[in-house]
Amino acid sequence: MTRYADLHTHTYHSDGTRAPREVIDVARAHGITIVCISDHDNLAAFFEIKTYADSVGVLLIPGTELSCAVDGVDVHIMAYAFDPFDERIAKRLASFRETRHARGYRMVDRLRSLGYDIQRDRVDELAGGGAMGRPHIARALVEKGYVSSVSEAFDRLLGPGKPAFLDKERFRIDEAVTLIHAAGGVTSIAHPSHYPDAPALVARLFDAGIDAVEVFHPDVSAADRETFSNIARFRNKFLTGGSDDHGTVKTKETLGTVRVPETLIEPILERME
Ligand code: AMP
Ligand code: ZN
Ligand code: FE
Ligand code: FE
Repeated sequence: MTRYADLHTHTYHSDGTRAPREVIDVARAHGITIVCISDHDNLAAFFEIKTYADSVGVLLIPGTELSCAVDGVDVHIMAYAFDPFDERIAKRLASFRETRHARGYRMVDRLRSLGYDIQRDRVDELAGGGAMGRPHIARALVEKGYVSSVSEAFDRLLGPGKPAFLDKERFRIDEAVTLIHAAGGVTSIAHPSHYPDAPALVARLFDAGIDAVEVFHPDVSAADRETFSNIARFRNKFLTGGSDDHGTVKTKETLGTVRVPETLIEPILERME
């Protein structure tokens, strides 16, 4: 029987709202038995839930979503099936989490100076010690009634060019590729439809050593899927996919909506043997 995978999910260890155990349980309820919890800059969920995943027959793939800078564009790269105990990865992710935290505080300060009475402590609580991000600040703004939804917070205050936006530290692509390959893993271009001039960008990223592209994703249309799959096939790259579930933060990206047959992700599965 073919198994199905969701290789893109978030928990409260980054900017999702679900617990790792809930991700595993909801995935199973949808017949998905290969799961990657791909929190931004954080592997905590993997260590928290590995034993449980094993016990219920879910293959848990080590993974994380990395924010990279490519000519000023914010490109997300999924990293999979690397050694989860790799020291260099652990150090690099810890340093990204620290700079995320400092940036989160600065965004709170800026919002306060603009008259939004939100608290650093509350944003810390919402981030729960994991990788702090703009969605946590957005939730603090929703709680105080300044905006009616997380997406309104991004539209009015937190998106690029908006009054409280602060950029964050990012990987260079070559650094991300080298780091993940050295630890035995592979990389994939997350939600390719998000980027300007995406087909050319995807081709360039493949040439820079990225191994795959995430063509199964709620934001990738059937037409885009066809385009990116052709670019991948031509260069001997493979395809990945996932729901990008964030729990209640995002409503469209939901666990169970994307089921990737295991036959497509052999380069990942063979690294798990
Ligand atoms: P950060 O990593 O702190 O820059 O925050 C970026 C994260 O915010 C992304 O990974 C998305 O999960 C989320 N995000 C970005 N834009 C929006 C939006 N318009 N509405 C809701 N969430 C968003
Ligand atoms: Zn996220
Ligand atoms: Fe992303
Ligand atoms: Fe994501």
